[in-house]
Amino acid sequence: MTDWKARAAALYDGGFRPMFIGGQWCEARSGAVIEARNPADGSLLATVPRGGAEDIDAAVAAARKALEGPWARFTPFERQNLLLRIADRFEAEWESLCLSDTLDMGMPIQRTLANSRRVLGMLRYYAGQAVATHGDTIPNSFPGEIYSATVREPVGVVGAIIPWNAPIAGSIWKIGPALATGCTVVLKPSEEASLTVLMIARIMQEAGLPDGVLNIVPGLGAEAGAALAAHPGVDKIVFTGSTATGQAIARAATGNLKRVSLELGGKSPVIVCRDADIDKAVPVAAMAVFANSGQICIAGSRLFVAREIHDEFLGRVADYAAGLRIGHGIEETTEIGPIISARQAGRIAGYLAAGPKEGAHLLTGGGSAEGGHLAGGHYFQPTVFGGVTDEMSIAREEIFGPVISALPFDSIDEVVARANATPYGLAAGVFSTHLGTAHKLAHRLRAGSVWVNMYHAIDPAVPFGGVKMSGYGREGGRGHVEDYLDTKAIWINT
Ligand code: NAD
Repeated sequence: MTDWKARAAALYDGGFRPMFIGGQWCEARSGAVIEARNPADGSLLATVPRGGAEDIDAAVAAARKALEGPWARFTPFERQNLLLRIADRFEAEWESLCLSDTLDMGMPIQRTLANSRRVLGMLRYYAGQAVATHGDTIPNSFPGEIYSATVREPVGVVGAIIPWNAPIAGSIWKIGPALATGCTVVLKPSEEASLTVLMIARIMQEAGLPDGVLNIVPGLGAEAGAALAAHPGVDKIVFTGSTATGQAIARAATGNLKRVSLELGGKSPVIVCRDADIDKAVPVAAMAVFANSGQICIAGSRLFVAREIHDEFLGRVADYAAGLRIGHGIEETTEIGPIISARQAGRIAGYLAAGPKEGAHLLTGGGSAEGGHLAGGHYFQPTVFGGVTDEMSIAREEIFGPVISALPFDSIDEVVARANATPYGLAAGVFSTHLGTAHKLAHRLRAGSVWVNMYHAIDPAVPFGGVKMSGYGREGGRGHVEDYLDTKAIWINT
């Protein structure tokens, strides 16, 4: 068994971790730092630069310069080879990457380790895309006289802004297509979790990434984030985070009309039909919310259950929730890790208090989890509320914590209307053994992804993203790299 504690002590000792601009490791121009603390116990892991507008300027300048340097002459095959080398290095250092994430943002180590297939798959998928994009020869109105064709060119400098809840996958989903297409990147990680992203930059540098192709500027949203979103030297912004921040970024991007894609929040419905296989549905519906302590955008936090099976199903979900092991992410048995910050814990506590006040019945959980080994962190019991109605705040708002709001339903038409009655449209889950019912629901739910008799599946080859206020643009799938390319038409008078 791996001694994660010993490895953790060797990985982060409280020292300074510089940021990465133009191939150089440096401090913020202001000298300011952010403390990176372990949410499991509040201990100091490291300090990182608190980048500001001047650092963003320097990073954008480095990224623009790299567009003119050796990177511009990399053939598609060389970009493919680079991505494959990076993937191999990721594989070799996978445990350290996962440990870093667990320490920095609390995700249980068993869960980070399990993500390897997806993340390595992303890098290798984009390696394939590097050699698979090309323009067209287009017949025109002057055959034999004028030749016309299109070529695909990198869009330029990509500004990437990511949240704290999945730093490895979140950053690779933005860096991968950029490297495949020949773009350059300035990435601002979340102020809550920068350490693993800095490790990723080190791995990529060692794999041979030319200077300036990837730049990492840790910092606050209102400082480095806002500066990047508004920067005239950035051609495209890719953002994952909350809907409110997405709106601010879309507004800031209008200055130079940079392209924007937004992966935002959700309040995803999970629908359990009366013919569902209950034994299979209970753990999946529970973990649709409780995975990563509910801190995932796709959390299936509105659990609609057919009235005929409602009480039995909820009883079993509540029993399952009560049995989940709460603890430090670094312990291999932990299923529910800490909440990222005091601010986020305060938000969750607010919803736990609002539920009963608005008339919901508490079936299990309902409070923070405390105890000797949990001191110094913010932990919550997995919570299930029954008797929830569509109007309650716990049924409408994204909680981003381990809280299920369960609602009974009577007919398919009714549940479709209620499930769709939300400003969000990120994901949905359906449990039914009847193919026709599952098919009908999958078609009628307004969401970027619908999972049937499963949840959480994300793959680099399958597009992921939202509709409505869950954002626009897709990550993964054939079309993803298209977002990083411009099309130029070339006419030749023969
Ligand atoms: P957040 O919006 O507060 O922050 C996300 C990032 O944006 C951070 O790096 C932050 O520093 C930066 N930021 C904040 N204000 C900014 C501004 N004015 N200009 C530019 N950048 C700014 O979100 P969070 O609390 O870190 O993450 C949780 C949210 O992210 C949830 O709403 C969740 O649903 C969403 N999320 C969505 C997806 C998805 O793929 N759809 C994935 C993960 C998380």
